[in-house]
Amino acid sequence: MTGRFAPSPSGRLHVGNLRTALLAWLFARSAGGRFLLRIEDLDRARSKPEHEAQQIADLKAIGLDWDGEVVRQSERTGLYRQALARLENEGRVYPCWCTRAEIRAAAEAPHGPLPEGFYPGTCRDLTDAERAERERSGRPAALRLDAQAEEIAFHDLLHGETGGVVDDFVLWRGDDTPAYQLAVVVDDADQGVDQVVRGDDLIDSTPRQILLARLLGLPQPAYAHVPLVLGPDGQRLAKRHGAVTLADLAPEEALEWMAASLNLTLPVLENLAPERLPREPTTWLT
Ligand SMILES: [Zn+2]
Repeated sequence: MTGRFAPSPSGRLHVGNLRTALLAWLFARSAGGRFLLRIEDLDRARSKPEHEAQQIADLKAIGLDWDGEVVRQSERTGLYRQALARLENEGRVYPCWCTRAEIRAAAEAPHGPLPEGFYPGTCRDLTDAERAERERSGRPAALRLDAQAEEIAFHDLLHGETGGVVDDFVLWRGDDTPAYQLAVVVDDADQGVDQVVRGDDLIDSTPRQILLARLLGLPQPAYAHVPLVLGPDGQRLAKRHGAVTLADLAPEEALEWMAASLNLTLPVLENLAPERLPREPTTWLT
């Protein structure tokens, strides 16, 4: 078994991020598995080497370790391009020139089986003339998957049977960088990751990633989407909630809170039982 933690180096990890990392590590290590660290730095504007270095230091400070070298997505564009080419060869990719505002407006109109807010496929059915006109505009196109509104069901170790319909999401952005969904699927398969433990804010992405894996002929990992940690105001934990990072907390203090919030007594390596973990978000510093 191989698990992973894959942070974006856009700031300091808070206790919620650290708790997700700890859980991913526990899931893998308690089963005698491998554990990998991958830096998801495709967003060049927000990713900073100093954030990466700090995140690695903080993960080490709470006692986590990983196998092999740290992998950075920014160094793997060639792999993502290959995957994109395969989807293109199968006729499942089309260019999209829509602006954010156009997508919002289109998504509000009633249409077919897609939930509100999903991209309704405006650019999928352009005529040749319409396509040529948009190409002439010079606006860079994003590339989308023709997902054919496929319905994906999967089993989650914490949430049980779940799933959803997949919309035509972006594979490659207009600024010529790979989109998160494509990179994650390619990386997990390439690195042999067969267990994905991550925050449940990402559970809605999972049907997209499963569909991509299937279309690319890649294995589907097992999933455990773990509850987020919230601030006392019920909002997603953030800097404004005060002492939330190891800048203000001793690693032992953070670890103690994490273990208590998960009903774990350390060391727990022998017996991590997903069914005993909380399913609801935990609040930091009530
Ligand atoms: Zn479009």
